[in-house]
Amino acid sequence: MSDLDRLRESALEANRALQRAGLVALTFGNASAIDRAAGLMAIKPSGIPATALTLDDIVVVALETGEVVAGRTRPSSDTPTHLVLARAFPTTEGIIHTHSRAATAWAQAHRSIPCLGTTHADHFHGAIPVTRSMTAGEIGGDFEAATGRVIVETFHEGPINPMDVPGILVSDHGVFAWGPSPEAAVTNAIALEMVAGIAIDTLALAGNPGPIAGELLERHHARKHGPNATYGQGPAA
Ligand SMILES: [Zn+2]
Repeated sequence: MSDLDRLRESALEANRALQRAGLVALTFGNASAIDRAAGLMAIKPSGIPATALTLDDIVVVALETGEVVAGRTRPSSDTPTHLVLARAFPTTEGIIHTHSRAATAWAQAHRSIPCLGTTHADHFHGAIPVTRSMTAGEIGGDFEAATGRVIVETFHEGPINPMDVPGILVSDHGVFAWGPSPEAAVTNAIALEMVAGIAIDTLALAGNPGPIAGELLERHHARKHGPNATYGQGPAA
């Protein structure tokens, strides 16, 4: 299998994984896989459900220009957002977009998801931010690229390290999540939807219990991330 087909294969598998996880319905949602050395991004085509996708349907575009370099189909209409994120977050090698239900409810409420417990802290180092609403000019202009720019602006202004909090709610819209591989990006999108749902249930039960204690947040995040990570079986020998 060529390097190009391997990249397409990992994008195909990420799109199928989103479907299996119940994060996408109909033709909503898409996943991309990035090859930094080759300067390429493989992404789901527009309008084809993940259940019907084949390797040949996956479109490959140049990271720098967005130009299609392989594939017969049209790339996802969200491709410009993926490209803006891929360029701004240089250690990202997989990007996910979904309208998953609980997270989208937070996005439509224009609310960031507070870190209320260790499930959240394991994957996201603090609240999951929400973007500002887009202006009429952004909506009427290059909307998809502007969506990417508003996401980058939110991390820049935080400031928030996009690898510490690998996901965001786009106001009135849905979720973007990412990671150092397409598989990690899928995991983060699944975790984001899970903590969004748990947070809604928690607030329904307890009003506002307040965020997780700082010590507990640090302990749980450090368990899975950083130089002293202790979770799992460690790197393969
Ligand atoms: Zn969308």
